[in-house]
Amino acid sequence: MVYRLRTSTFKFSLMLDDSGMESLPMDPDTSLLDSTQAEDEDKCILCSDAFCSSSSPHEQKTRPIDEKSPLRRKGCFDPYDSSEEYVGVVTLPNQVRQKAVKKGFVFNLMVVGESGLGKSTLVNSLFLTNLYTDRCMPDVSEKIARTVSITKSTVDIVEEGVNLRLTVIDTPGFGDAINNNESWKAAVHYVDQQMEKYRRDEIGLNRKNIRDNRVHCCLYFISPHGHGLKPIDVNFMKALDQKVNIVPVLAKADSLTPKDTCNMKAKILKEIDQNKIKIFQVPDCDHSNDPFRQLVLEVKRSMPFAVIGSNTVVERDGRRVRARAYPWGIAEVENPSHNDFVHLRNMLIRTNMQDLKHTTHYVLYENYRINCLCKNPCLENV
Ligand code: GDP
Repeated sequence: MVYRLRTSTFKFSLMLDDSGMESLPMDPDTSLLDSTQAEDEDKCILCSDAFCSSSSPHEQKTRPIDEKSPLRRKGCFDPYDSSEEYVGVVTLPNQVRQKAVKKGFVFNLMVVGESGLGKSTLVNSLFLTNLYTDRCMPDVSEKIARTVSITKSTVDIVEEGVNLRLTVIDTPGFGDAINNNESWKAAVHYVDQQMEKYRRDEIGLNRKNIRDNRVHCCLYFISPHGHGLKPIDVNFMKALDQKVNIVPVLAKADSLTPKDTCNMKAKILKEIDQNKIKIFQVPDCDHSNDPFRQLVLEVKRSMPFAVIGSNTVVERDGRRVRARAYPWGIAEVENPSHNDFVHLRNMLIRTNMQDLKHTTHYVLYENYRINCLCKNPCLENV
């Protein structure tokens, strides 16, 4: 199912690294900014500055860019300007950006957790959309008999010319049965299937239009009513942590006091560590002047994210906000002092979407591919 959605409520940050991954992993045209091969944008600028300077090689490398230099005016480069001051290397990031925007972005998000933990409400709140219009709720007897299934919904989100095709993979039935020992199997099967499909496409004839259906991130919902992780949580995360980026989420945080939330988060992290479960690690910012540095620090501090979701908009001090209203007060979804929703959204969309995709491609998929080759070295020639 594909929905189209236009929105201009918040800006997307365009991360330029590995933009070529959308269809072909090693696109030579766009691999310039691949973080494993190239330096960051600032270094490219310094480099081009050094290139055009007339001083000694050592001075060239260390000389700061002249404030008035055209190199400073990023994005305003005139290709017909024949000034001898620079060669135009500064435009390379823009070329990559244009190519990436033209191609569009793809992100596949899996949401897993027991029914009723607020998965669909949170996804709708995160992407300001309604992905579950034709959803039917099973009754108790159906739930008990039901096995875990996989459903996919896709929505195109367009903001200021940037197109993101978001696919949300849900796992209805997870944790609903009396015996949930094997609840994780359907998700593992799905993740493996998508990796295998990608691998086969990659060694196939038509590599130009590979569709990336691999799961880039799995939001795992933990109940706020337990005492830390349940066996089903540990089993699921252990089964998938080498295959997908797991981001743990403490659901329905409005049902906990701030102190309980803190204790619960600490307990979850401790149990994750004790069980040697690998969750997604947000990379550090490389530069102290990185504009996203503060956001990234807050994201790191908030893990596991204690979140509130809501499909209801209420009036608060003259503002219209997404919130859950109670007789004793209002829990605002986008208020960082009420919950970590904003930090989760920042991580997923504004600061680390490309990191999630990068890890999926260069670490998780690479491991999968190497495993396949080790099992059957002739596969590469199939
Ligand atoms: P799902 O089965 O995991 O997809 O859960 P739903 O999104 O359908 O939510 C189940 C119920 O929980 C609905 O009545 C929601 O309104 C409610 N709900 C969703 N998010 C929250 C939350 O953050 N806090 C509270 N208290 N209730 C929530």
